[in-house]
Amino acid sequence: MNIHEYQAKALLRSYGIPVSDGRVVLRAEEAKTAAGELDGPLWVVKAQIHAGGRGKGHFKEPEAGEKGGVRLARSVGEAAEFARQMLGRTLVTIQTGETGKQVNRIYIEDGSDIDREFYLAFLIDRQTSRISIVASTEGGMSIEDVAHNTPEKIHTFTIDPATGLQDFHGRRVAFALGLSGAQVKSCVGIVKNLYRMFTDKDMDMLEINPFCVLKDGSLKLLDAKMAFDGNAIYRHPDIAALRDETEEDPKELAASKFDLNYIALDGEIGCMVNGAGLAMATMDIIKLYGAEPANFLDVGGGATKEKVTEAFKIITSDPQVKGILVNIFGGIMRCDIIAEGVIAAVKEVGLKVPLVVRLEGTNVDLGKDIIRKSGLNVIAADDLKDGAEKIVKAVKG
Ligand code: GDP
Ligand code: MG
Repeated sequence: MNIHEYQAKALLRSYGIPVSDGRVVLRAEEAKTAAGELDGPLWVVKAQIHAGGRGKGHFKEPEAGEKGGVRLARSVGEAAEFARQMLGRTLVTIQTGETGKQVNRIYIEDGSDIDREFYLAFLIDRQTSRISIVASTEGGMSIEDVAHNTPEKIHTFTIDPATGLQDFHGRRVAFALGLSGAQVKSCVGIVKNLYRMFTDKDMDMLEINPFCVLKDGSLKLLDAKMAFDGNAIYRHPDIAALRDETEEDPKELAASKFDLNYIALDGEIGCMVNGAGLAMATMDIIKLYGAEPANFLDVGGGATKEKVTEAFKIITSDPQVKGILVNIFGGIMRCDIIAEGVIAAVKEVGLKVPLVVRLEGTNVDLGKDIIRKSGLNVIAADDLKDGAEKIVKAVKG
């Protein structure tokens, strides 16, 4: 789960980590008051969307300007005007894709005098099963470009969970960034608090870009991106409350309401499968026969007819789906439940694309019987290979 920059900064502030004072604005009329509460003489007006690269992004509508989603203002009036221009408009950045994202919230921040911009991130490194820290002097720009062009400028190291974060980790970050004197001590404190916050809140990813040295020599975090482990959110009602559903894929949102393990992908074949392993194998075999899966979907072991119906509706609501493969190995899950769910969903939303159903296991005969008697135009398959071949052929001809 992701949150907005202004929410991330409130969390950072609560851990004693230096960020600028700021105000969130939902309506243009509030912008002037919000900006007036900050000291000036520089204000930063920032579009709040769950995507980075806002500064270099552009708006689809001309009035919001070519200037991107992060703008510096020299007066309260100018800050309010920028906020008005951005609100309600669609911002396109390298991370949003061409469709862009609508800006519904603006963060107005006290502007800082930047001397140097760095990059600092904490991530879960699945290869070492540890939290790793990534630091680079090349902040303020796309870290992907830095990794590609000057990989030697990226410093990465991991934290041993048995010892946790030690002062020397913080010093390593400080030296990698070329800090000296009092900045080193300050950096150690910030890195320690970031680690405490990261582990306290079960984060997946924390990216600070830029992490800055200001003209007065102090350190400050001017941008923050945070992602939390979805499986641990139940332990953090404060974080769960920050969820902004308008930022999420509507299909994934619907799936999460019904407790379905669903991830939208780019392909053309919708998959309904039980069990994560079988779901992965189904995606693989679709690719093997020359097509791409439109989603990962594991309906789980004890799914009800209603859950299966919802799952099927989510798949068919995707305009990219040109065919559906239902692949069920009934163990705890019964094939007749799947059959009933599919039929209920088709009755509700119709079926405009080819459907291949492969059922095996508990109550398989009953399941096949239900589908046969329904009069649905279903292509039956005997095994996984047969199912994949048939759906790819039905879609690609
Ligand atoms: P992003 O483009 O979505 O990553 O948004 P950022 O918050 O990182 O802002 C983009 C750039 O705007 C930063 O790299 C800075 O160069 C600049 N910027 C952000 N905040 C300030 C500020 O307080 N003062 C100044 N002078 N520039 C800022
Ligand atoms: Mg940034």
